Amino acid sequence: MAMSATMSSGAMAWAERGACRDVDPDSLFVPGAAQHRAKRVCASCPVRTECLTEALDNRMEFGIWGGMTERERRSLLRQRPDVVSWRPLLDASAVRTAALAR
Ligand code: SF4
Repeated sequence: MAMSATMSSGAMAWAERGACRDVDPDSLFVPGAAQHRAKRVCASCPVRTECLTEALDNRMEFGIWGGMTERERRSLLRQRPDVVSWRPLLDASAVRTAALAR
């Protein structure tokens, strides 16, 4: 997730290392099928897990986060409404692979 300078400290310092740090933030907030093209930037991102955790934990509705589209995240959240902290699940390789492969 492309972040503004004000979001680069503290809990979201990981965003400075995101593969999208130099892209136009608007390119990650596109509608519908265009999100599948937009999320390609996430494929080589070193902070993909951190980004997806942020989005899922905070129920971020819009934009590409952690290599997932809005619809993909909604689907995952519907499958696991009991989860309030996603990091342990995303760190577990089987769950992480399933989540990120969507
Ligand atoms: S996972 Fe994608 S949206 Fe998140 S920081 Fe990395 S490149 Fe940006």
